[in-house]
Amino acid sequence: MAASFDLTGKTAIVTGANTGLGQAIAVALAGAGADVALVGRSSMADTEAAVSAAGGRAKTIQADLSTIEPVNRVIEETLAFTGRADILVNNAGIIRRADAINFTEADWDAVMDVNLKTVFFLSQAFAKNLISESKGGKIINIASLLSFQGGIRIPSYTASKSGLAGLTRLLACEWAGKGINVNAIAPGYFSTNNTEALRNDPDRNSAILGRIPAGHWGQPEELGGAAVFLAAPASDYVHGIVLPVDGGWLAR
Ligand code: NAP
Repeated sequence: MAASFDLTGKTAIVTGANTGLGQAIAVALAGAGADVALVGRSSMADTEAAVSAAGGRAKTIQADLSTIEPVNRVIEETLAFTGRADILVNNAGIIRRADAINFTEADWDAVMDVNLKTVFFLSQAFAKNLISESKGGKIINIASLLSFQGGIRIPSYTASKSGLAGLTRLLACEWAGKGINVNAIAPGYFSTNNTEALRNDPDRNSAILGRIPAGHWGQPEELGGAAVFLAAPASDYVHGIVLPVDGGWLAR
């Protein structure tokens, strides 16, 4: 059974790997044996050290994912790193908070560009390489509870993450037959920069905590196992799912 979760010899690309969930996913994949290309616009020094400590090789690829300009280069630099690109984790994402009635076009476009448009075109570039080499692979999109629910004051975020759930299913339908698994993880409320504003608001913090059956904010390390599962042979017959890792939030 251990072989079903072994990523030895595989290369993963993780976007937004400098902090938060992306960093935890990169470290978890390295712990299962993968080498990891760390993609983002900030220093990856902490993650590089943690990936090395977990037993993997790490390479930083500088890229601002607010446009699709870097997507082909991300794949090329990954191939230059290890000669292969087996796993893509589309983790980088942003959130903008304002009442829907006042929400600006700039906040709409910024979120949709990073959370949805670049995810699609990076996935396309990743899949083109696999298909050109007649190889299978794994794409893991980081969705959200807002892929299932409406939320408040985050209209472009909810639209992007609901769209990402649909995109996950569409790509799974198109690429499953080519040996490419496309799935998503929907994290619940995790303690990262993304949720700092909520945790700093005493009313929102206690309302959220009171609804989580597990009784605590998720810690980024608690997401790693789901990412390894969806990256590994164990999930070879799993296509198009959005897997909640939410302390039971959606069950409530
Ligand atoms: P985070 O700490 O804010 O991390 C977001 C990551 O995305 C950072 O590495 C950030 O890089 C990167 N990023 C943003 N814009 C980018 C750009 N233009 N180019 C390159 N990288 C960019 O938040 P997180 O919670 O770990 O979020 C990771 C993912 O999980 C996101 O997709 C988020 O929507 C999703 N998620 C989080 C939660 C939660 O509770 N935390 C719940 C559901 C879903 P910089 O540091 O350079 O900005």
